[in-house]
Amino acid sequence: MGKTEKYDHMKLIRQYAGGHSTLITLGRFLAAVSAVLTLIPYYELWKIIRCAVKGEDTDKIKVYAWSAVAMIVGALFIYIGALLCTHVAAFRVQANMRSSLMRRIITLPLGVFDEDGTGKIRRIVNDSTAATETYIAHTLADKTVAAITPVGLLVLVFAFNWKIGLFCMIPALIGFACMMSMMGKDMQEKMKQYQDALETMSSEATEYVRGVPVVKTFGQTVHSFKRFKACIDGFCKWTTDYTLMLRFPMTGFMTCINSIFAFIVIAAFVITKNGTSNADILNIMYYIIITPLITIALTKIAYSGEAEMNLIDALKRVDRIMEIEPLKESKSDRKPADHGITLKNVSYRYKGAGRDAVSNVSINIKPGEHVALVGPSGSGKTTLAELMVRFFDVTEGEIALGGVNVKEMSSAELMRQVSFVFQDSRLIKKSIFENVRMSKPSASEKEVLDALEKAQCMDIIEKLPNGIHTVIGETGTYLSGGEQQRITIARAVLKDAPILILDEATAFADPDNETRVQAAFEELSKNKTLIMIAHRLSTVMNADRIFVMDDGKCVESGNHEELMEKNGLYRCMFDEYTKSIEWKVGA
Ligand code: ADP
Ligand code: MG
Repeated sequence: MGKTEKYDHMKLIRQYAGGHSTLITLGRFLAAVSAVLTLIPYYELWKIIRCAVKGEDTDKIKVYAWSAVAMIVGALFIYIGALLCTHVAAFRVQANMRSSLMRRIITLPLGVFDEDGTGKIRRIVNDSTAATETYIAHTLADKTVAAITPVGLLVLVFAFNWKIGLFCMIPALIGFACMMSMMGKDMQEKMKQYQDALETMSSEATEYVRGVPVVKTFGQTVHSFKRFKACIDGFCKWTTDYTLMLRFPMTGFMTCINSIFAFIVIAAFVITKNGTSNADILNIMYYIIITPLITIALTKIAYSGEAEMNLIDALKRVDRIMEIEPLKESKSDRKPADHGITLKNVSYRYKGAGRDAVSNVSINIKPGEHVALVGPSGSGKTTLAELMVRFFDVTEGEIALGGVNVKEMSSAELMRQVSFVFQDSRLIKKSIFENVRMSKPSASEKEVLDALEKAQCMDIIEKLPNGIHTVIGETGTYLSGGEQQRITIARAVLKDAPILILDEATAFADPDNETRVQAAFEELSKNKTLIMIAHRLSTVMNADRIFVMDDGKCVESGNHEELMEKNGLYRCMFDEYTKSIEWKVGA
């Protein structure tokens, strides 16, 4: 319970609950009534024991017993009513949270999904809202019970024999102190670290599984395994440290609350040292029966405290997504005059980065021109391409498409103008037909087949059990990285946008695939403005113009011959590249 900061989680929950927030109040009220009703039978029980000890008639006992049963059944039904209320409210809150999250997520710049990792976002939408649901549905009612019961118990404990009551209170108080020490002020921070570790692990796992094609193609096994393993190791260390830190208070708490019994025994010795009376026996028996209640109440308080910290953490995570600035959607319906792209002094810096990923780049791509971006890894090629399709907005400068600033174009118009096949293009778990058709939902089966043919995919389709209606990822239908890429190219073919951006689109292609992928590109880029990023320099040699990026800047430009003559970075890279091919052939 982070007392250092005031975080009004109930206010937030009520906002999400909207009209259903009265149900939360009603649920808590019913839970309180049920808590009180649950305690009354213990008074009946005391009367029953008194009858038994005195040897009174059984009819009286029956009446007490039945009234206790009635009370318990009544309390149970009221508790069920309370849970019904809180559940209905909880489902509403969860649904509202998810839909406002999703409404926000679709307005976010596409780049956010690169930065944050899709695994993390998925975890927040699924798990953080589920944690909120659990809290409202179950914990709120329990928390109310946990707050009422100790007060009622205190009355019960001291009502019959204050001396035994006092003995019972000793371990309960020590246990309570242990519990409070566990919930010290850095507990909320610890909970955050725990959730962070879980989040990183989950996102690393998702990215790891998704990255398997890359791992296979580039033999990155050790590298990618390291990152995944590091976060599991980190989690393991954190959990161990945390457990060790809590071992004393936790054992103290468990020992105390479970040892109230032992204290009653001591109390029994103390009060019976001058002879035993019936009343003493009655009280001792009675206390033996009610002390487990104290144990249960304290455990509930401990757990509801933990659940509350979990909830606050979950709500904060949801807030973080809700606070990301959405991409400003332009209201204007300006149409680009042609299919050229102009970059004027464009700079971009990633959030939290120390330096620009792209710095002061000015490029003018004419309509219909085929250009290539080359440069060492990390030189800003992908970032530049992503800026052109507004994955992010430039930090400085301006990007215009056919004379219209991309910020002043509606995103629908921008997407009509541009197709892109990125390095990590992914297919979704649907049929090939649906996957290709995503770029043009109105397309007929024939159009889809045409696109697949142009993208050189027919050999893939022929292998599949249900042709283009085969669902990817089901019953062992997996495609290789190169094959997946060809399907995403078919997607771009079908969309047929006038500007095409290919980012290392042949990266996964094996030699056999590569010629096919190349052929597909040639088909795809006819009469189009083409921006191509490639690390195989053989694929960019024929470009009209090549821009060489280094460290975020555009350092050279020209066609292949001109650049070779310049004897600069391009020449250097090309020589390296030729050597690596010869080396491969030689090997
Ligand atoms: P390239 O495509 O040429 O390999 P990138 O555009 O991917 O280069 O990266 C350019 C620079 O921006 C690199 O220094 C890289 O580390 C950094 N960068 C790329 N993506 C991100 C990101 N999501 N967050 C922070 N920095 C990034
Ligand atoms: Mg790149």
